[in-house]
Amino acid sequence: MKNELYLLNYLKTKSEFYDPILSQADNIRGMMNEITPYDLSDEFYFKQDEFLQDRLSKLNVIDVNNLEFKDNIALYKGDITLLQADAIVNAGNAALLGCFIPLHSCIDNCIHSYAGLEVRRDIMDILKGREVDNGEVIVTKGYNLPAKYIFHTVGPIYEGIKRNDIDLALCYLNSLEQADKMGLKNIVFCSISTGVYGFPINRASDIAINTVRNYLKEHHSSLKVVFDLFSKFDYEIYERKLNKD
Ligand code: ADP
Repeated sequence: MKNELYLLNYLKTKSEFYDPILSQADNIRGMMNEITPYDLSDEFYFKQDEFLQDRLSKLNVIDVNNLEFKDNIALYKGDITLLQADAIVNAGNAALLGCFIPLHSCIDNCIHSYAGLEVRRDIMDILKGREVDNGEVIVTKGYNLPAKYIFHTVGPIYEGIKRNDIDLALCYLNSLEQADKMGLKNIVFCSISTGVYGFPINRASDIAINTVRNYLKEHHSSLKVVFDLFSKFDYEIYERKLNKD
């Protein structure tokens, strides 16, 4: 509650009383990360949305339709929260409530921070405290992101066992099925499990590419799929593999 009042006051006054060392945007993001949105006021969401939309208007949003697709697959390197797409896939943890560590650099933190606390609220409503299984997909709106929907999934924590491969493939497969079921035209995947969860990028990229290619072929799907990588190293691995054949 204290955090909510702090943040609302901060959003209203835009003063630097919270932490003068951080930027205004970082102050807000850090406070948002710690909030559990039980009953935030309409005023709170209004002010938060105003702030996030203003932030977004100063950034360069990329429409995924303008990417170069080959066999319905495209590659992109950069921040998934700036992609205008029908759906982006988030790699969360089993609670799917987003990351509570202020300003943490994981993708889950980034997506929840820039979409807004509506996402955490919606997941609380949908799951009511239940934890999801690896590979399960829960859909929310994108709220303040350029993407229409966020597909929240949880990848395996890498232990080097066969089950990890199956679970990672399920993240991709269930997301693709969900996108087709909703009649979406495109979907963007991040590199699920290859950050904090430690899945080796070589093995994970084989699973991601094979699962997507097989799905599109077997289902005669016209869905456009983007693999979004965050580092040059990861991007080049995907680039090499996709251009091999
Ligand atoms: P996991 O816990 O599933 O491993 P992480 O967030 O640690 O998830 O990382 C998943 C992948 O997402 C990593 O390759 C990481 O570099 C990448 N990533 C992190 N932030 C972003 C972002 N803003 N946009 C796209 N990819 C991101």
